[in-house]
Amino acid sequence: MSAGAAAIDALLPQTQCTRCGYPDCRAYAEAMASGGAQINRCPPGGADLIGRLARLLGREGLPLDPACGTEAPPRIAQIDESRCIGCAKCLAPCPVDAIVGAPRRLHVVITGECTGCELCLPPCPVDCIEMVPSETLGREPLLPPPDASRQRHRAHLQRLARRERERAGLLATRKRAAGTAATS
Ligand code: SF4
Ligand code: SF4
Ligand code: SF4
Repeated sequence: MSAGAAAIDALLPQTQCTRCGYPDCRAYAEAMASGGAQINRCPPGGADLIGRLARLLGREGLPLDPACGTEAPPRIAQIDESRCIGCAKCLAPCPVDAIVGAPRRLHVVITGECTGCELCLPPCPVDCIEMVPSETLGREPLLPPPDASRQRHRAHLQRLARRERERAGLLATRKRAAGTAATS
């Protein structure tokens, strides 16, 4: 019997890191449910997750696919306050909205919510975000609770979709206004 995407997604660590090659954990779960993806593509879940997926899906266990990365203890992002220029480029890429700050202001990471996905690193123009072992920032060496990360990711996607609708609405209003001005 094949398990559904929801049951598979419930096992995934919800870091939303994209290392599996899919845009988020849910997309990878859907690919596994449809038989289109192997069960060994999630480095944050590692060997333990592969074992649980193998049992759930009735498949053979496999070693972690090295093309996706290696298994390692969780790390979380820390922003060097002395170097942050407040450009806000790290905000949108964070899949769980764990960075707070406003344009031209210092940005900080909410350590209890950071999944360690590293997606905020490439957009930072001054390389002031560093990944550090979670325990050095007072957090247990564990990922945040998966259910909480899943909820934050859903809220993040909804916020992005709302912003896109607002942007499209604004563009349409401007186009209409420009058309009216041209014909008057
Ligand atoms: S934790 Fe990362 S690698 Fe694992 S399923 Fe989620 S997005 Fe993919
Ligand atoms: S702060 Fe950076 S590493 Fe942490 S969850 Fe957000 S994007 Fe990922
Ligand atoms: S991208 Fe880097 S410099 Fe810009 S706000 Fe984020 S941490 Fe600061």
